Amino acid sequence: MKLFDSHCHINDTVYDPDLPEVMDRADRNGVKAVMIAGVDRNTARRAIEIAAIYPRVFTAVGIHPHDAIQCGSQVIGELKQMAMENDCVKAWGETGLDFNRMFSPQPDQEACFSAQMAMAGELGLPLIFHERDSKGRFYEILKSDGPSSRRGVVHCFSGTKEEMFKYLDLGYHIGITGILTIQQRGKYLRQIAPAIPEDRLLIETDAPYLTPKPQKNKFRRNEPAFVKSVIERLAEIRETDPEVLAEKIYQNTCKLYGVSE
Ligand SMILES: [Zn+2]
Ligand SMILES: [Zn+2]
Repeated sequence: MKLFDSHCHINDTVYDPDLPEVMDRADRNGVKAVMIAGVDRNTARRAIEIAAIYPRVFTAVGIHPHDAIQCGSQVIGELKQMAMENDCVKAWGETGLDFNRMFSPQPDQEACFSAQMAMAGELGLPLIFHERDSKGRFYEILKSDGPSSRRGVVHCFSGTKEEMFKYLDLGYHIGITGILTIQQRGKYLRQIAPAIPEDRLLIETDAPYLTPKPQKNKFRRNEPAFVKSVIERLAEIRETDPEVLAEKIYQNTCKLYGVSE
């Protein structure tokens, strides 16, 4: 099976002691490509370092909505520089809105989000969107602010069926995490995920978070190898062959991030 973990944080310090083993397990489980999402400047730098060591590791630069309070033009300029100087940078993100924990005030989050979309547009990069409990604001901003040519993925999708179709109508991809495998928390997602057109699907771990159910009892920390559990559950609920679906999703991901297959 050929898998692409379209969103993870293996640049997190929790992988410092054993990253080579983590990458080896990913490879042995068919994970042939990985996208490391950015959340701030330091993690973006670390991601670029990792991409220089391992083949088919790609990176994104961006400021997470939690950190929007520190997102000035200076910071965005530095991320722009990193994107222009490093071939491994294939996307901008994660960026978006998170009103769940409100680590940054709403006006800061919205300003930071718009500024980053403008920069991604300038650089011609696809976007990795993070949305949680934004009560419709995320969609309003997406819809009102920007060209229809904009490409991106709503990662770790956790919204309603209506929201899902709105994002699909705007042309975006939907990222499915291990939440799909969790009994209670994944129930609603399992009901609506079969309705996503096959060519708009992406799978991801969002590691070190959201360990899928099959691994949950044994491992606290998620890792790219476990994206296999996401594809298996997804194929099951879509009543399709996991190998074929994996291949299709691999192609979708390469296409969105503009990397060769
Ligand atoms: Zn996120
Ligand atoms: Zn993430």
